[in-house]
Amino acid sequence: MSSSFAYRHSPIWAQELLISAKSSLRSTMREGRAFGAMAAEIHKSEWWSERRLRAFQSEKLQMIAQSAVSNVPYYRNKYRPLDLDFEKLEFPEALAKLPLIGKADVRAAGKSLISERKQGPLFSGSTSGTTGAPLGLSQDLAAINRENAFIWRQLTWAGLRRGDRRAWMRGDMIVPATQEKPPYWRVNRAENMLMLSSYHLSESAAPSYLDSLARFDPVVIQAYPSSIGFLATWMLSTGSRYRGISLRGIVTSSETLSEVRRREIESAFGCRVFDWYGQFERVAAIGTCEQGRHHLLSDYSFVEMLPAEDGLFELVGTGFNNLSMPLIRYRCGDLVRPAPANERCSCGRSFPLIERIIGRVDDSIKLSDGRSVGRLDHLFKGVEGIIEAQIRQDRLDTIVMLVVPSPTFNERTRETLQSNARYRLGDGIALEIQLVDSIPRTRNGKFKGVVCNV
Ligand SMILES: [Zn+2]
Repeated sequence: MSSSFAYRHSPIWAQELLISAKSSLRSTMREGRAFGAMAAEIHKSEWWSERRLRAFQSEKLQMIAQSAVSNVPYYRNKYRPLDLDFEKLEFPEALAKLPLIGKADVRAAGKSLISERKQGPLFSGSTSGTTGAPLGLSQDLAAINRENAFIWRQLTWAGLRRGDRRAWMRGDMIVPATQEKPPYWRVNRAENMLMLSSYHLSESAAPSYLDSLARFDPVVIQAYPSSIGFLATWMLSTGSRYRGISLRGIVTSSETLSEVRRREIESAFGCRVFDWYGQFERVAAIGTCEQGRHHLLSDYSFVEMLPAEDGLFELVGTGFNNLSMPLIRYRCGDLVRPAPANERCSCGRSFPLIERIIGRVDDSIKLSDGRSVGRLDHLFKGVEGIIEAQIRQDRLDTIVMLVVPSPTFNERTRETLQSNARYRLGDGIALEIQLVDSIPRTRNGKFKGVVCNV
């Protein structure tokens, strides 16, 4: 938003008016006529039994597969040679007869994935393309409303009610990049929301961020893990306290949240972190309940678990939301560790439990013997003195670690990082540690733990 000339050159009160007006339009669309009914529906389905959820999924899958094979050219061509009678197939079992698809298929399919049966206007969007080429997808209004109803359900689990104050730190360009002193936030009156910039976080700006949050006193903070995590780590390393009194929960999403980060955020802000996992393709969603457990939301989509290394599984999802551009058996590329199948959550919901969300398959570096190594958060095990760090690889024989140090960073920190790296990656690759003031964000304000260019 701050990229527009008019916005950048307006006083703060006018910027806040523009933010509120735009946000009001956006909520009219996202929470339009169908939203209320959908929200009510999914507040019921969260309490359904396993059997009822299964029946619901089976019905949805039947409808989506049938509509795809009749109305979507891509599936018509792909499924026709399979010679299946879609009216008689029993779902979810029959899903296994259909092929898996991935990002490359969607990119190649282009408009042939769009249904010929019109469901009203379509809204197009694309991924930011920070890793690989961007992926373009279209969705209808019902899909946008339904997605939003699910996000609201998660906010409710975190303790938010409609109209409550909330804070938002999710990469919106609300403060011009050239601005060098606070306020690094704007008030969005239409949504009763304090919006804070993800791009201006630094050790020197941290006290004013914390102060503005406490003064606004939100009930829930919605944030990228890296944005709220930066503040939390800074608070713990300097002994600063959060002085707001209404905060019930922090909802993180859009980046992988490590266990260490989660604990730091909870201890710095004194409330629970509700991590939400979703993706742009909208084929799987994982929410966090009041008991702090991750639930795979089986009223959102149908998810299959594709076995990967080390007892982990890749999520393969079929979305229920978007009949205008359905994705069936779509490989998300994200890994999870499910909880044992018979484990139940004390919150009383029947949604399956996920032990850990591991994150992207492609967050990895390459070794000269051809191996690809992911889950590099192990390198930071037992390491103190780091506010945040990024691993970059531009050559096969070297990785560079950019580190924003806290006051406790010392020689021992370096030694532990070096020995962790040798233990995990072997002697064939050198680790160079560079201390920096801040780590650049991607175009949409996200933090990347690993950037591999080889
Ligand atoms: Zn639960």
